[in-house]
Amino acid sequence: MRSYVKSTALALILLWLTLSAGCASNAPQTRSFQSMDTVMQLTVYGDESTTAAIEERITELDKKLSSTNVNSEIYRLNRDGSATLDELTADALEQSLSCCEASKGALDITVYPVVCEWGFISGDHHIPSQSTLNRLLKSVDYRRVKLRENTAELPKGTQIDLGATAKGFAADEARKLLLRDGCESAVLNLGGTVLAHGKKPDGSEWRIGIADPGNSADYMGTVSCADKITATSGSYERYFTGSDGKRYCHIIDPKSGMPADNGVESVTVISDSGVKSDSLSTALFVMGLDKATDYRRQRRDFELVILTSDKKALITPALAQSFQLKNEQYSKEVIRDW
Ligand code: AMP
Ligand code: MG
Repeated sequence: MRSYVKSTALALILLWLTLSAGCASNAPQTRSFQSMDTVMQLTVYGDESTTAAIEERITELDKKLSSTNVNSEIYRLNRDGSATLDELTADALEQSLSCCEASKGALDITVYPVVCEWGFISGDHHIPSQSTLNRLLKSVDYRRVKLRENTAELPKGTQIDLGATAKGFAADEARKLLLRDGCESAVLNLGGTVLAHGKKPDGSEWRIGIADPGNSADYMGTVSCADKITATSGSYERYFTGSDGKRYCHIIDPKSGMPADNGVESVTVISDSGVKSDSLSTALFVMGLDKATDYRRQRRDFELVILTSDKKALITPALAQSFQLKNEQYSKEVIRDW
């Protein structure tokens, strides 16, 4: 079985350098470090101490929220079935559970044992038997996670993973530090979840690249934004090719236990909240085009770019001007009733 995990982090570095070239009117503080299983790149027009504080906060969050670090609070909760969490972890868990509810279970943080079974955590990829999936799916249900004050409890067999929301939570935390320090201009690329804080020092908006699913070292288009958080979930980010020749991606439909496979290559969500963008990009990817479209009609507090395998770039009307196509294999379609 051939397996492949894309070098997302490197791709994003290249992408980011391309897009940020020439936009600085004064030298920013820059920093790059590994955290949350990816590369974080900070560009802050402000004090070195702010950049340092952001790195420290993200590193702290990674230590608390990781499902694989044996010293983390989430690892402890998964191992023991109950745990008293500190404020930050409890907040991240509470927000993640609300997102599961808002997505009607398309996002489900208890899908973790299924993600593990497919080998997306260990790297030992394989296609699970239907009976194994059926057994594991019995423990998948975010509604059975109890959080009272800071004490969390899981039913036997249930384990959680905040991988679909943690980078968004980190972006929201980082923004608090930028505001605390009076920094008006920064762009933080947290492994593909991008906080565009304020505007560029020259007063123009940030241009954020959307990775090209066919060549994720490149971007297929850009959106301009200010004071927004952009998150993308894509089938190209982490996948393997099974012995049956099919490609299986790391985003799992919690109803079936199968990797989402619905003609959507990536979903990019742009909103005012990191947790919202990060959770919705994953959830809408699971839902597929029709359900994602319906969802957007009901809830209009975010903008959307959906790339489909038949090379359509479907965008919400507010992005009509700001979304610029680079890869001309794609056709841009503004969905008017979104
Ligand atoms: P993202 O890259 O934000 O779309 O998050 C994907 C990661 O979240 C995967 O690598 C899994 O660890 C986990 N995951 C996969 N499917 C789901 C799901 N339906 N709900 C919650 N987390 C998921
Ligand atoms: Mg996500």
